Amino acid sequence: MHSDPTDQRPDKPEEACGIYAVLAPGEPVANLTYFGLYSLQHRGQESAGIAVFDAGHKVRLHKDMGLVSQVFDQDVLERLVGDLAVGHNRYSTTGSSKVCNAQPVVLMTRLGPCALAHNGNLVNAAELRLELADIASELTSTTDSELIAFAIQQAVNGGRDWDGAIRHAASRCRGAFSLVIGTPQGLFALRDGHGIRPLVFGHIGDLADAQWVVSSESCGLDIIGAVFDGDVEPGEIIHFRAGDPLPERSSWCVEEAKLCIFEMIYFARPDSRFFGESLYSYRVRIGEALARETPVAADIVIGVPDSGIPAAIGYSQASGIPFGDGLIKNRYVGRTFIQPTQAMREAGIRVKLNPLPDVLAGKRVVVIDDSIVRGTTSRKLVQALRDAGALEVHMRISSPPVTHPCFYGIDTDTQDQLIAARLSLAEISSHLGVDSLAYLSQQGMVEAAQANSSHFCTACFDGSYPIEMDEQVRSSKLMLEPSGIAASVLLHR
Ligand code: SF4
Repeated sequence: MHSDPTDQRPDKPEEACGIYAVLAPGEPVANLTYFGLYSLQHRGQESAGIAVFDAGHKVRLHKDMGLVSQVFDQDVLERLVGDLAVGHNRYSTTGSSKVCNAQPVVLMTRLGPCALAHNGNLVNAAELRLELADIASELTSTTDSELIAFAIQQAVNGGRDWDGAIRHAASRCRGAFSLVIGTPQGLFALRDGHGIRPLVFGHIGDLADAQWVVSSESCGLDIIGAVFDGDVEPGEIIHFRAGDPLPERSSWCVEEAKLCIFEMIYFARPDSRFFGESLYSYRVRIGEALARETPVAADIVIGVPDSGIPAAIGYSQASGIPFGDGLIKNRYVGRTFIQPTQAMREAGIRVKLNPLPDVLAGKRVVVIDDSIVRGTTSRKLVQALRDAGALEVHMRISSPPVTHPCFYGIDTDTQDQLIAARLSLAEISSHLGVDSLAYLSQQGMVEAAQANSSHFCTACFDGSYPIEMDEQVRSSKLMLEPSGIAASVLLHR
């Protein structure tokens, strides 16, 4: 398997979006949303936006390409005056990387404006686009998120109230969608029936003040000192109103919960809470499970920063092999960073990770990473560890082999690009140049969550897609017959 030397894409699944909203009359809602989006920056780095409702009927919007800190400054935030803000960080999975595709989407309706921010991906976007053909000329973007907003607008203009319109629009959507929607009647938060993407809510100040915050992850509540109140449940819609200390919670549909387990392994921040604990604890446990399942004689355990570190600590604790910092990461390499040429790479330029020879030389090294997607980065990493003097390199992966693409809001490439879909375990080991390679079992990954094991989407590891796609959508990314998928799936122990 040869990697394309001109291929500059990151060798990790890419998160699609972070969403955030604050309903807090009298508070600087745009500034609070800015900090919330800043804490969710890992979920999307291409564009950012905030829409603010002033006195219900006027909306000010600012969105642009870039990181949150590049898109907003104090002058911009001071102009975004109001009592309800909706914010969004984007990394494109549907629609191209252009400012017209940045969110929130703001539309005018019979009942006033609405501002919508979406995390996820619809699998029936083409169908929905056809159904909305009469307003297609008004579509300004190529995103599925705008289609949801137009479906809400159509339902409102057809006579429904906000709650009815949002439920009606949601029922026309198939796929993953966590939404925050600002309206003149307050803030709505909603998750698709499977709850594939996370969404939590909390409050600031006294509960009686009814100042609400909704965030993709709980780290977005912590950053502004908000109190965590709970998850927006799969299939739930919550209506928050200014001055009302009890939000109105109800189901809009009932399906089996299927949270994306990759959120737990890699995407979400380790300080975000899932199932009553921080993800850091879960990631330590999957490292422990990995050590029990795939032991190896070695002198040191290191993690690939940042997401491989907790699992490396867990592996060390369970195996008794000392943990060390063997790789230093430059934390300031953004998506817009000018990448070195292939010649520069060959000359030894290491932009993101640098190994520490003092720690690694003469040692048998276990290196823990959270996933292997295409394998291009892992191969370079192994060579760098050897160059730093590692005697042996044993790679351990704290998730099963990624053999299937994601259709629900994560960019995992087409199936033919996924190394574990094409090569056997032995072939991957030899491609990466490791002394040994092993993955965590699916059972180990799910059991470590200490939650109902059927309540996860694990499709990128086993192809069990919880939401059906039509043939055109499937064949856009799934190109291998099940019989053609490499034996690494079966042989990963
Ligand atoms: S297919 Fe994979 S990345 Fe996509 S939602 Fe399911 S577990 Fe998550």
